[in-house]
Amino acid sequence: MDIHEYQAKEILSGFGVPIPRGGLAYSPEQAAYRAREIGGNQWVVKAQVHTGGRGKAGGVKLCNDEHEVLDAANELFGKRLVTHQTGPDGKVVYRIYIEGTVPIEHELYLGLVLDRKSERVMVVASGAGGMEIEDIAANEPDTIIRSVVEPAVGMQAFQAREIAFGLGIEPAQVQQMAEIIMGCYRAFRDLDATMVEVNPLVITTEGSVVALDAKMTFDDNAMFRRPNISELRDKSQEDPRESQAADRGLSYVGLKGKIGCIVNGAGLAMATMDMIKQAGGEPANFLDIGGGATPERVAKAFRLVLSDDNVEAILVNIFAGINRCDWVAEGVIKALEEHPVNVPLVVRLAGTNVEEGRKILAQSGLPIIRATTLSEAAERVVAAWQNDLKHNVKLVDTK
Ligand code: GDP
Ligand code: MN
Repeated sequence: MDIHEYQAKEILSGFGVPIPRGGLAYSPEQAAYRAREIGGNQWVVKAQVHTGGRGKAGGVKLCNDEHEVLDAANELFGKRLVTHQTGPDGKVVYRIYIEGTVPIEHELYLGLVLDRKSERVMVVASGAGGMEIEDIAANEPDTIIRSVVEPAVGMQAFQAREIAFGLGIEPAQVQQMAEIIMGCYRAFRDLDATMVEVNPLVITTEGSVVALDAKMTFDDNAMFRRPNISELRDKSQEDPRESQAADRGLSYVGLKGKIGCIVNGAGLAMATMDMIKQAGGEPANFLDIGGGATPERVAKAFRLVLSDDNVEAILVNIFAGINRCDWVAEGVIKALEEHPVNVPLVVRLAGTNVEEGRKILAQSGLPIIRATTLSEAAERVVAAWQNDLKHNVKLVDTK
């Protein structure tokens, strides 16, 4: 789970990381008011969207008076900011953060990530900040310091100082820098983060070290025990199909094909996708409804798959161990009653209560194509989809 810059700054500030004075706004008027509240005579107006590269995309604006703040905010609110990380759809700006500017002497990079290879938290730092870490790695690889944290003892003060010295900063700033590194590490560890990035971390002309940008990502699987973090989730920044699925306890990934899949278990979902491809089709999604799926949950899964306009046929493939085929069948019928489906639907049930499940489907009188094995199901759904396509083309031709 990602959070906004202003949220990450507030968290890091609580762990002793210095940040500029700032305030959040939901309207241009509020932005101007925040600037007045912060004081001074120069501000940065920053779009709060879950992406990096905002500066280059026009999402960070330097303003010299209140009118400029108002204009900048007017331009940003409601805008779809497209950065090199967002893809062509961009992310819509609903919140803006206003900060007093800081006189920058030097920009540095500080990041903490989970390094899969060493299975440790790794601190990555560089004296060449202000650009993305990928660019630093490409242009100035020698400036990058990597330091792995020993989990049994955690980040040690000497280790933080060693990193700080490695950045080539003045001795006067080494202690400040070491405290910032320790603070970021504690925030990472205590809050189940998977990434903390401060870029740029700047040294001001007055010699203090300040975080000008901050980014944090958290482990979704730990959010049940971090209510203060999970409430920071901003659904306006997520793929609506995926966040709707997450809200319903379903695991969903949108894909580009035409055949919608409703499957229980990630392994079976993968196998189903393979079989659809083998039969000459392309899956429109990966959807795992999990074990113990009640009729309500199956119906929710249907609504989700049908909300994707690309879907031209649906395959329900359930192997019921914990699940019960009769429940799944009831769910399918419930969904069809609420939402008549005008695309071919193939259902394959196997496992617990399979006979009852099949009986419920057969007696429903609904146009459901049934299959017994997985390969049969995949072939039938692809054939039904192709038939349906031909049929539709014919209709168009005779018009
Ligand atoms: P990002 O592009 O999404 O990573 O957004 P950042 O918050 O990193 O802002 C982009 C750039 O704007 C930074 O690298 C800075 O050079 C500049 N910037 C941000 N805040 C300030 C500030 O307070 N003063 C000045 N002079 N520049 C700033
Ligand atoms: Mn940045």
